[in-house]
Amino acid sequence: MDRLTNLIDGERRTPRSGDWIDVHEPATGKTYAQAPNSSAEDVNDAASAAMRAFPAWSKAHPDERSRLMLRLAELIDANLEPLAQAESRDTGKPISLARRVDIPRAAANFRFFATAILHGDSEFHRTDDRTLNYTLRQPRGVAGLIAPWNLPLYLFSWKLAPALATGNTCVGKPSEVTPLTAHLLADLVIEAGFPPGVLNIVHGAGATTGAAIVEHPDIPTISFTGGTSTGQAIARVAGPMFKRISLELGGKNPNVIFADADFDLAVKSAVRAAFTNQGQICLCGSRILVEQSIYDQFIDAFIARTKALCIGDPMDDSTEFGALVSADHRDKIEAAVNRARDEGADVRLGGNRLEAPNDRCRDGYFYEPTVLTNLPMSCATRQEEIFGPVVTISSFADETQAIADANGTPYGLASMIFTSDLDRAHRVAAQIQTGIVWINCWMVRDLRTPFGGMKQSGVGREGGQDALKFFTEPKNVCIQTHDE
Ligand code: NDP
Repeated sequence: MDRLTNLIDGERRTPRSGDWIDVHEPATGKTYAQAPNSSAEDVNDAASAAMRAFPAWSKAHPDERSRLMLRLAELIDANLEPLAQAESRDTGKPISLARRVDIPRAAANFRFFATAILHGDSEFHRTDDRTLNYTLRQPRGVAGLIAPWNLPLYLFSWKLAPALATGNTCVGKPSEVTPLTAHLLADLVIEAGFPPGVLNIVHGAGATTGAAIVEHPDIPTISFTGGTSTGQAIARVAGPMFKRISLELGGKNPNVIFADADFDLAVKSAVRAAFTNQGQICLCGSRILVEQSIYDQFIDAFIARTKALCIGDPMDDSTEFGALVSADHRDKIEAAVNRARDEGADVRLGGNRLEAPNDRCRDGYFYEPTVLTNLPMSCATRQEEIFGPVVTISSFADETQAIADANGTPYGLASMIFTSDLDRAHRVAAQIQTGIVWINCWMVRDLRTPFGGMKQSGVGREGGQDALKFFTEPKNVCIQTHDE
């Protein structure tokens, strides 16, 4: 069985404690590798290496940092197929999705921030004839970067790239559930020629390795993507230490469909937003709100289109819907659907474990795409994130109710509006309490835009200038000239 390793100080290292965590292939349920369960000592080794590497990396000319990051992006492109295979195997996501989205986006993240730093500028304020101010933006030191399992390399690189580009050194932790592409990335980091200690990767459980990163006194910056309750635990530790934190947390995203929308586009997009990556994307549209006059017609069309999804072995090229990430996660989804039944839901589609698509997958973690209706706004099913292939569909009478329902949960990450009325689109977008509003589309991403959530979906924004600012410390320099 393969044993994955940490990347610390430019070297592959096994965990000091000798503790390992089994890694499963969700499609088969089989253990196929072991990842280090790194202790606080391993994290300390990584943080010390990152501290040693910081002075030279932070002073390196942006051209040099950019060159290495562009080289890494090229290597990711050159290894698209093995990385996509690894991502699909590790997560249960369709190989076509990993090839089309996850891996290309990881390369794009490095490329975007590698070139952004070549075009940076900084604020300048002229106070009067004698006095001017400018803002120096300096890297903050060692950044602790903690990523989840749903888009492993995509989200890990989303944090690594801006942190490195701005001159920070890093201690990164992928999810213990999906460590494989981060392990492969380490080879590419070495091949690209990054100086030792600039980019360290420590594998391990959140409660040990993740917590050790958050608690480490020499890691002043923490960027975390994951669940809201983990975000709260991190904030409790990092807050009193006055660390700078960015928390990208859960979502319960409303997809608001008005009767004047392009119906086919709305149905097609709603199915994609509901079930891409088996519904395990923080941006998925899990609460579908449909104007009353097209409600029944929409449900029929939505179910028909969902039934046409190609469900299968994630490794098959034609598969559009694969396995859930773990047995534990499938249990959670199952419990959430049972709770919905107790709350009185009509299960219009799905609601059960899926039969294995082939013999190889007979012990895999498959669950049917599930459509629930007839639930009140206040019930747990419509309030709490499920993070799986489960959507609720409900109706609204008018725009006022649509906005109230869209805003009626503690979350505020993303929303979708489908309408052909431009005035309405702008009006509703301005009133919805989410960090991202997609109008007549879903998951269209421009890396320059601010990315993040309101309310319990997070604190801070990443992406574009926001990420460059997050990873740097602004310093006001004020100069005054004096006549003789
Ligand atoms: P978790 O919160 O369970 O874990 C996220 C990461 O944090 C993992 O690496 C985890 O390690 C680690 N971790 C867990 N506990 C701690 C701790 N006490 N201290 C430090 N690190 C810790 O989330 P999931 O991995 O289950 O991911 C799913 C969640 O992520 C969903 O809620 C989803 O909405 C959210 N998400 C948000 C996004 C956004 O941009 N807003 C994007 C994608 C996902 P380990 O896995 O080893 O336990």
